[in-house]
Amino acid sequence: MTVSVVLFTCDLRLHDHPPLRAALDTSDEVVPLFVRDRAVDAAGFAAPNRLAFLTDCLADLDAGLRERGGRLILRSGDLAEEVAKVVAECGADTVHLAADHSAYARRREDRLASVLGPSGCAVQVYDTVSTVVAPGTVLPASSDHFAVFTPYHRHWARQTMRIPLAAPRKVNVPEGIGSEPLPARRDITGVSPGLARGGETQARARLTSWLRSGADAYEEGHDDLAGDRTSRLSPHLHFGTLSPVECVQRALRKGGSGAEAFVRQLAWRDFHRQVLAARPRAAHENYRSQHDRWRTADAAREDIEAWQEGRTGYPVIDAAMRQLRHEGWMHNRGRLLTACFLTKTLYVDWRVGAEHFLSLLVDGDVANNQLNWQWSAGTGTDTRPNRVLNPVTQAKRYDPDGTYTCRWVPELAGLEAPYVHEPWKLPGLERAAIGDYPDPIVDLADGLARFKRARGRA
Ligand SMILES: Cc1cc2nc3c(=O)[nH]c(=O)nc-3n(C[C@H](O)[C@H](O)[C@H](O)COP(=O)(O)OP(=O)(O)OC[C@H]3O[C@@H](n4cnc5c(N)ncnc54)[C@H](O)[C@@H]3O)c2cc1C
Repeated sequence: MTVSVVLFTCDLRLHDHPPLRAALDTSDEVVPLFVRDRAVDAAGFAAPNRLAFLTDCLADLDAGLRERGGRLILRSGDLAEEVAKVVAECGADTVHLAADHSAYARRREDRLASVLGPSGCAVQVYDTVSTVVAPGTVLPASSDHFAVFTPYHRHWARQTMRIPLAAPRKVNVPEGIGSEPLPARRDITGVSPGLARGGETQARARLTSWLRSGADAYEEGHDDLAGDRTSRLSPHLHFGTLSPVECVQRALRKGGSGAEAFVRQLAWRDFHRQVLAARPRAAHENYRSQHDRWRTADAAREDIEAWQEGRTGYPVIDAAMRQLRHEGWMHNRGRLLTACFLTKTLYVDWRVGAEHFLSLLVDGDVANNQLNWQWSAGTGTDTRPNRVLNPVTQAKRYDPDGTYTCRWVPELAGLEAPYVHEPWKLPGLERAAIGDYPDPIVDLADGLARFKRARGRA
């Protein structure tokens, strides 16, 4: 009887899962294992919103396995040691897992190999589980990664993709392998009230309905803040309840300019992953230094708090920051505006913003979050690092009648454009009617001048 272990990490699904397929093809029995990794908790990465979403994903994965005659084994502690214990208990000859690309994920793979080495158990790592194109597959002539998205995307789009795999019909799990009880979402405190539900079942339903009725309007609608017309698949892609390969193939099969624009966004995920794989320190250090001497957290404390709480006096910024707190998710245009506002208008270090986002975002992801923050701050891969987005102009363009803004900043409900985006311009009595909604914490022209001076462009 041959046995292998499938170690699930950020790939919590049964459809299109190459490690699971390989394990089932080569072994009589398979142990589907998830380890609640102590190192991830210690690093503060297990924020309540992601933890709550994870519990949904694990419950759904377990249910899917049970429908196929199996079950999920859950352990917690030191990941490599827990895997080694399970390997010893079931006599597995191979551990199959998906490749991941952060510095931590690499260390995890190395440690697994060294801890399992003496037992003779092999570790098999599979690409294109969490990406469409694996980092390092497409390279420019003279570097170990692409630093600019457009040429990367050109090469990316020409790659041959593997065919998505069906979910298995049957999973035989050996008897007698103990599991901790699955965590319950209700036991997690500090979860955003509007947090989406996780799990592969939800993810597949969302992909199907969005491709059917949302994708066609994506190209022209993706920046429409109030319309909320993006796919909202990011948490599912983060936890791997959806396969990015399958998303791309289904979108391409559907066809049309909206589906193509969506596929281009998916290429951004891979782009950031190949940057991070080549430059793991970009998770914490400037990818391209602009010699910034950011305001210190102490000097900017009040501004940072106002930004975090959605009380900057710039309605669209406040709306987006309140959406983040309420849903654990924020529209991409909101992320761009709030990140630019913090780093350029308030001239605060991108790491302060990235950390706050990671404390709340359900899709919070080292590659996408840190590198998008760097892009916004101009220390990353943006080819126009000093561009500054004006929150008032942008609000008028992407939330023309203020619907999105008023949804999240009810103090301003009833105000018409343009006042909803510039309430400080209201005449006296009407100004008084919006209660304690704050005046702007910074004058945009002053913020811009400070930024230009700092970047030597005054
Ligand atoms: C400051 C900042 C921080 C961000 N942090 C994260 C993060 O932690 N996790 C995360 O998944 N995305 C992050 N993004 C990227 C983007 O905002 C989200 O992926 C997107 O808003 C998710 O919504 P959606 O699923 O409806 O996206 P859609 O517009 O429907 O796009 C489809 C998918 O493409 C991918 N995608 C879209 N835009 C980007 C992008 N710019 N970079 C990488 N992938 C992208 C996502 O997986 C997304 O689900 C960040 C962007 C900024 C500006």
